[in-house]
Amino acid sequence: MSDTTSTPPKKHATRAGNYFISNYPPFSFWSEDNAAAVEEAYSAPHEGTPPPLGLYHHIPFCRKRCHFCYFRVYTDKNADEIKHYLDCTVRELEMMARKPLIAGRKPQFVYFGGGTPSYLSPSQLTDLTDRMKALLPWNAAEEIAFEAEPGTLNPNKVKAIKDIGVTRLSLGIENFDDRILEINGRAHRTKEVFRAYERIRAEGFDQVNIDLIAGMLEETEENWQENIARTLELQPDSVTIYQMEVPYNTGIYKDMKASGSLVAPIADWETKRRWVKEAFAALEADGYTISSGYTAVKDPKRTKFIYRDSLWGGADLLGIGVASFSHAKGVHYQNLTEIDDYDKALDAGRMPTKRALKTTPEERMIREFILRMKLGRVDAAHFRDKYDVDVLERFAAPLAQIQSEGLLNIEDSAIVLNRDGLLCVDNLLHDFFLPQHVTDKIV
Ligand code: SF4
Repeated sequence: MSDTTSTPPKKHATRAGNYFISNYPPFSFWSEDNAAAVEEAYSAPHEGTPPPLGLYHHIPFCRKRCHFCYFRVYTDKNADEIKHYLDCTVRELEMMARKPLIAGRKPQFVYFGGGTPSYLSPSQLTDLTDRMKALLPWNAAEEIAFEAEPGTLNPNKVKAIKDIGVTRLSLGIENFDDRILEINGRAHRTKEVFRAYERIRAEGFDQVNIDLIAGMLEETEENWQENIARTLELQPDSVTIYQMEVPYNTGIYKDMKASGSLVAPIADWETKRRWVKEAFAALEADGYTISSGYTAVKDPKRTKFIYRDSLWGGADLLGIGVASFSHAKGVHYQNLTEIDDYDKALDAGRMPTKRALKTTPEERMIREFILRMKLGRVDAAHFRDKYDVDVLERFAAPLAQIQSEGLLNIEDSAIVLNRDGLLCVDNLLHDFFLPQHVTDKIV
């Protein structure tokens, strides 16, 4: 990272809204009227060499709903209902694997997300993945990623997760203080983290990632330093740190609304960024490399994020399950978000699509550009080769503006964010959106 001096930041309280940008154009532009575009995308194979294919499976169950959670999750389903849901997802995969766009292709990466994938029992996991592999073999996959909640991981479960082929296990620790975990509605406690971590290391997963959140309810300076120290003790292969945001459908927002408060009772953005900056500095001093605005990796040669890098580069993603997100031949779409509706669509032999957007080549170029910015470096040559666009010229005005704020430099035809720029990258990305897609920034 280059060493550019930035002006002293103003203080910005955390207000309600989404900060993190995970896709483009924004979800609010996806529409139920576009579902036919999804059918059309799947009706024929790619012309020429297809991009990589990823498979995502969504498990919408959790032990408890965290106060900061904005996903549709179910905390009250019994074993029969879970079995029924898993059967539905297999039915969906069966239907999709036969579509001309997918038939004959093998996933480059597989991802189990949620919700809480580790909520499933060992036998449910084995049965589900055996059936999935029979429909869409993943023996060519370079990465099988799996999200786990520490309190759900007994030794048999950890073994089952390893046996189904998981290469990267991501442990949602979020914080090492039991009181903070409780106040934020997390189901697990710290002693479960250490117990689970020992088992995970004993099983020998290729990669173990831990997730932390900077700025949970009642986070303090002292506690944050403790989080950094505990993380260094564990020595995971990678650490992902999110800055706490408060989207509208979270428990925290509901409390804010009830009390008439516009400001969330958590640290301001400058404090959260400083905390991540301090964590990154401590990890770097310990030999880690910062590989994105959120991630530190111990050994960049060995520790890859194929899901992230392929998806950001334009891979197809077949998302299975309620509310899952997909990307097929330039069409973004999301599945129905309620289990009952999802179930009914499959019963009727229909794809369970809720909303979709067929992107233009320009939108795909912008999408890849903004997502690559999150890695801290964008090479102009890549965009010239792939899209025939000179991004230095196309985005000259916003780049000059961000450069004047001391957050990036242009080095040998590469756009390079410095550390301060990287830590507020999501807030910079709006400047590259097409005018019709600009919505309110929250910082
Ligand atoms: S574990 Fe994750 S998905 Fe489940 S309620 Fe908490 S934040 Fe939401």
